[in-house]
Amino acid sequence: MERKNAWAAYDAAGMEKIEAFAKAYCAYIDGGKTERECVAESVTAAKAAGFEDLKDVIASGKALAAGDKVYVNWMNKSFVCFVIGSEPMESGMNILGAHIDSPRIDVKQNPLYEDSDLAYLDTHYYGGIKKYQWVAQPLALHGVICRKDGTTVTVAIGEDAADPVFYISDLLPHLAQEQMTKTAAKAIEGEELNLIIGGMPVKAEGEEKASVTAGVLAILKEKYGVEEEDFLSAELEIVPAGKAREVGFDRSMIAAYGHDDRVCAYPSMQAVLDFEGTPKYTLCAVLTDKEEIGSVGATGMNSRFFENIVAELCDAAGAPGDLALRRTLQNSRMLSSDVSAGFDPNFPGAFEKKNAAFLGRGVCFNKYTGSRGKSGSSDANAEYIAQLRRILDQEGVAFQTAELGRVDLGGGGTIAYMCAKFGMNVIDSGVAVLSMHAPYELISKVDLYEAYRCYCTFLRDAEPVK
Ligand code: MN
Ligand code: MN
Repeated sequence: MERKNAWAAYDAAGMEKIEAFAKAYCAYIDGGKTERECVAESVTAAKAAGFEDLKDVIASGKALAAGDKVYVNWMNKSFVCFVIGSEPMESGMNILGAHIDSPRIDVKQNPLYEDSDLAYLDTHYYGGIKKYQWVAQPLALHGVICRKDGTTVTVAIGEDAADPVFYISDLLPHLAQEQMTKTAAKAIEGEELNLIIGGMPVKAEGEEKASVTAGVLAILKEKYGVEEEDFLSAELEIVPAGKAREVGFDRSMIAAYGHDDRVCAYPSMQAVLDFEGTPKYTLCAVLTDKEEIGSVGATGMNSRFFENIVAELCDAAGAPGDLALRRTLQNSRMLSSDVSAGFDPNFPGAFEKKNAAFLGRGVCFNKYTGSRGKSGSSDANAEYIAQLRRILDQEGVAFQTAELGRVDLGGGGTIAYMCAKFGMNVIDSGVAVLSMHAPYELISKVDLYEAYRCYCTFLRDAEPVK
């Protein structure tokens, strides 16, 4: 059985909606190239949509009632928003989850050095990247530098046309005879990912010799008020410089940095923000950090931050206590969304075509992910999938089902199994992407829009699974 291409179902008015949503998405990812920037944008969007900070609600002692809208900014790296439903919390929530961290290159803690009249920042890559893809192109620097006095400088350098960019060099082909015989994994190694940040020696006051680092440090001091030591408490992320771009003569696709997983995070959040009226069940979108390195840390889905937030919410919504929390989580339904590996005609051997996701065929469901014998996977219940098929078909949402590539070729995991540990029904879903984890990844606009429609339908129609 083959799923149909989703574009065919759209007339001119429908195409306009796809376009408008794609534009809004591009604005979100152009402004959100790090998890922190995504959280900042999400908070702004939530406030504009009338959501209140849950912290303020709790502090005011106000009880949450059906129709109330709240959000949580967790450590500036994860974001959760809710709309309270008319049914009791214990009947469970309709939850959308996705991650907002993306593979990138981080700056080390003691990064600054000079070699051969060039100044560098030493780096440590984050997530699963093909290192050779990140050299010889314009790079931007995003993040925060936290000073000892408690103040924070936010930086985003390399995105404005007037900004400088940064650069990691590669070896010229003329001298690359040895390099070209290495495996792709070794052609560029982790310690070779050194970021060029300056090339003009400057004489610092009282110094004999001019140095490039001295010049760079003087600029950092003047422009940002930071010292070399402040790198110790900085989080600086190196990402491709530049904006999302439309792809193809028909402009049907988008190439951008960080589709994984903002292409699911944005529509998940937006579906909750756009919900009109009072839902039957409480709605939730959770955008989390650290998925690319195993969902670890206090801002990753393995942390109890989400459980703690739901505990606070239950308490404020008149369902206090541990048992109410457990029932709320266990009776929930979740779409855990992450990008799916799109079938790539350039590399057909990596896929099994009957069970692959195709660009343009709508939102994608993975019953299971994992590797080898489904190891590490959260295998969604057939009863739950049947309900999803029913509500999506009723609404005419285009969807497809897929596995992550051929059996035994590799594999991967998402945040689904961490939510499944609460006993809730959860399935992996999301948008198909080509060149996943590359500096520029490719998606189809229609898949983005079908994901949004899928999320809106799920929020409205998903019910406790019998
Ligand atoms: Mn992902
Ligand atoms: Mn990923």
